Amino acid sequence: MKILVLNAGSSSHKCCLYNIEGMLPESPLLTVWEAQLEWHYPDRAALIVSTERGQALEEELASVSRADALLYLLKTLCQGVTQVISSLQEIDVVGHRVVHGGSIYQSSVVLTDRVKDAIASLIPLAPAHNPASLEGIELMEQLLDNVPQVAVFDTAFHRSLPDVAATYPGPYDWIEQGIRRYGFHGISHQYCTQRATEILNRDVENLIICHLGNGASLSAVKNGQSIDTTMGYTPLDGLMMGTRSGAVDPGILIHLMRQGYSADQLEYLLSQESGLKGISGVSHDLREIEDAISQRNQRSEQAWNLYIHRLKACLGSMLMSLEGLEALVFTAGIGEHSASVRAAICESLAFLGLQLDDAQNQNSPVDQDIAAVDSRIRVLVIHTQEDWAIAQACYRCCS
Ligand code: ADP
Repeated sequence: MKILVLNAGSSSHKCCLYNIEGMLPESPLLTVWEAQLEWHYPDRAALIVSTERGQALEEELASVSRADALLYLLKTLCQGVTQVISSLQEIDVVGHRVVHGGSIYQSSVVLTDRVKDAIASLIPLAPAHNPASLEGIELMEQLLDNVPQVAVFDTAFHRSLPDVAATYPGPYDWIEQGIRRYGFHGISHQYCTQRATEILNRDVENLIICHLGNGASLSAVKNGQSIDTTMGYTPLDGLMMGTRSGAVDPGILIHLMRQGYSADQLEYLLSQESGLKGISGVSHDLREIEDAISQRNQRSEQAWNLYIHRLKACLGSMLMSLEGLEALVFTAGIGEHSASVRAAICESLAFLGLQLDDAQNQNSPVDQDIAAVDSRIRVLVIHTQEDWAIAQACYRCCS
């Protein structure tokens, strides 16, 4: 089964092709093709990054629409040096990451007009992501005849949140209006839950997963089910992130509205001008912040300390929801690559008997337990494979 996965982010559209022959394997398969579109430029030019035998090929496109750039990129599947199939019609199923499925979708579904309408109706709750997914879905409908498309929702893993974790203590009306904690990054949290049991070779009762990328969230997982998480009604809640503030006192927003800020301005401030970028004034990227700290840049140091403080505070909250901890998982860009963030967090959990193996922590671990042998809590670094998780969901929906 040839499965094309489209993963639409706010500033990129990652695409890859898997070929699953026979039964669904337990370990992730390698992709047969992958490429990505990046939107970094003010004039909406696109950068296409694809790989040819491990070599990155980069191509810049001048002012094109998102759909045209995606079309151009998909054609490299069956043309040129990166060609792996003779025609797009060879694709058996297309899987899309959809960030917000609201309370309507609690598992992956084959796309229909009704599902598309529902995704469109949730755009106000995920304005940077749901429109990009819809564009990808509509483009694939135009390009392929009668090929099933599957929506895999980032909110679905958190469907198991108990009411007490999902409810905001606002007026009761909010509950009836569906204003509640949905949680995000569910595809990654679910993948890491499954991978943690494989790495440890046993079921894990109490697990905390730290998904620390540009967007970041924690989940508290009990017996394989999400029982608490830091993102909420929208992906703005919870941890300090690359450009997002995470949770702030709602009174600040009321204060700024009284000063004349519009909803759009506040959204821009909280989602684009805050977090690591806002505090450091250097970058949203932790690598650049760490470089600046080595040059004694004080605001970068302040941003790093704040990032760790907020992470510890939210971890405490997940820990109390679980009332126990057997394993702590680090994943996504920062979780997988920043040994210093992992060390700072693990140090603060020493009082629970958690001990890191410092050498393993420094040694670029992948899908590995990096706790000391006598640690009372295991510490795993897991390379999150959201695209493989989407491909697995497509296989299960369509085979
Ligand atoms: P996204 O949420 O966009 O998918 P990723 O999971 O790819 O993000 O994470 C991207 C972030 O990971 C970068 O902005 C950077 O802060 C961080 N990162 C990546 N590599 C490293 C590294 N070696 N050290 C520290 N941080 C890193």
